[in-house]
Amino acid sequence: MNLARQIEQYLPQQLLELVQDISRQAAKLGQRVYLVGGVVRDLLLGDPSLRSGPRFDLDLVVEGDAVKLAQQVAETSQAKLLAHHRFGTAKLRYGDFTLDLATARRETYAKPGALPAVTPGTLKDDLIRRDFSINTMAISLASNDYGELVDPYQGKGDLEHRLIRILHPKSFSDDATRILRAVRYEQRFGFEFETQTAQLLKRDIPMLDTISGDRIRHELELILEEEQPELAIRRLGELGVLPRISPVLQGDGWIAEKFDKARRLKKPTQLPSLYFCLVIYSFSEKKIEQFLTRLNMSAKLSRAIRDTLRLKTRLPLLDTSPLKPSEIYYLLREYEPVAIQANAIASDEKEGTSSLIAQRHLQLFLTKLRYVRTALDGEELKRLGISAGPEMGKVLQILHKAKLDGGVRTRADEEKLALSLSLKLER
Ligand code: ATP
Repeated sequence: MNLARQIEQYLPQQLLELVQDISRQAAKLGQRVYLVGGVVRDLLLGDPSLRSGPRFDLDLVVEGDAVKLAQQVAETSQAKLLAHHRFGTAKLRYGDFTLDLATARRETYAKPGALPAVTPGTLKDDLIRRDFSINTMAISLASNDYGELVDPYQGKGDLEHRLIRILHPKSFSDDATRILRAVRYEQRFGFEFETQTAQLLKRDIPMLDTISGDRIRHELELILEEEQPELAIRRLGELGVLPRISPVLQGDGWIAEKFDKARRLKKPTQLPSLYFCLVIYSFSEKKIEQFLTRLNMSAKLSRAIRDTLRLKTRLPLLDTSPLKPSEIYYLLREYEPVAIQANAIASDEKEGTSSLIAQRHLQLFLTKLRYVRTALDGEELKRLGISAGPEMGKVLQILHKAKLDGGVRTRADEEKLALSLSLKLER
């Protein structure tokens, strides 16, 4: 099967030119280059937009020396060599596009969960080390068979039968992150597990214990970047994968409803963090520490997650009306915005955790109060004759409070208040 037409149709022109340039340079070096991985799968599915968005990252495998090839391409084109490594991989950047070039390699696993030992190999070696048959296809970029599909492990057949299939029985035990990856693809494409794959996946769930927190977290992050991550989360719950990662993790319908709400509210950049804060919403504060340690969570996200639970216990304080805007501000300013957002979404009247009043207060803080700034700053107060120091701090604080509560509106109002305050404070 030849996919030259699909490549030309789907790859952005600029990227296509670079790919063809790489192929020419490779020929000069006597090397062969292939397009591999997700992009081949998505080209065959007829929808590479599945992987586009603003980025269009391509994976290339080189039978030869990927670093040498990347260096040569960077010298003779406008592509920039971002990084290269001793173990035969290189990254090229060209406009908005990133290309990962890897020397074809063979992998062997010394023990389950460990990172594999790597030696140079052929394209076929490189493809067999991959996770599922649908990800083992390659497209030749060499001039004599440009566009030809290389499919030694029947990926195309599985794609047509809508199956997720591992390549050998030890696949999940060698690397149990593939359990999470399997579910991610199953839910993204609406595919099914091939029979033996399903059995082995269930059998090898305990092997997740052999995987480091960083690697589990990375796969969970990939899931949370999916369009509808709740599908995979629910499925991981059904399969018993979530409790294996952390005893209290669940993937019930509650999550689906809240994720959906989050998507409609939030700017996409913060979404994965917000999802994490929602996933843990039913945790106790004690359990959360085990979870954060298990996933080796970053300091920033750990803070957001802890804040989510801390704020949850304080929601009754926000459930009184009337509260002045400044009171709401002082109650909430110490929390990460994403934790506040999580509470606004997760708190549910029925569960008695919060009421509409508290939710309204949370929203008011998020949409308005946290952005309120005084027109005057320290420099301008100095010009009004107020000297730097505790006195100025106090004036700024009172101005801010007045601005929050509507006591001052204009710059002139602020100047008037600042001067009268400074007179009072001097006395
Ligand atoms: P998508 O982004 O759509 O998931 P992709 O191919 O870009 O597809 P990546 O996570 O970037 O996915 O991985 C690149 C390729 O590396 C995959 O196609 C897969 O074959 C391989 N791969 C990634 N993780 C593993 C793993 N744990 N075991 C084996 N192969 C893997």
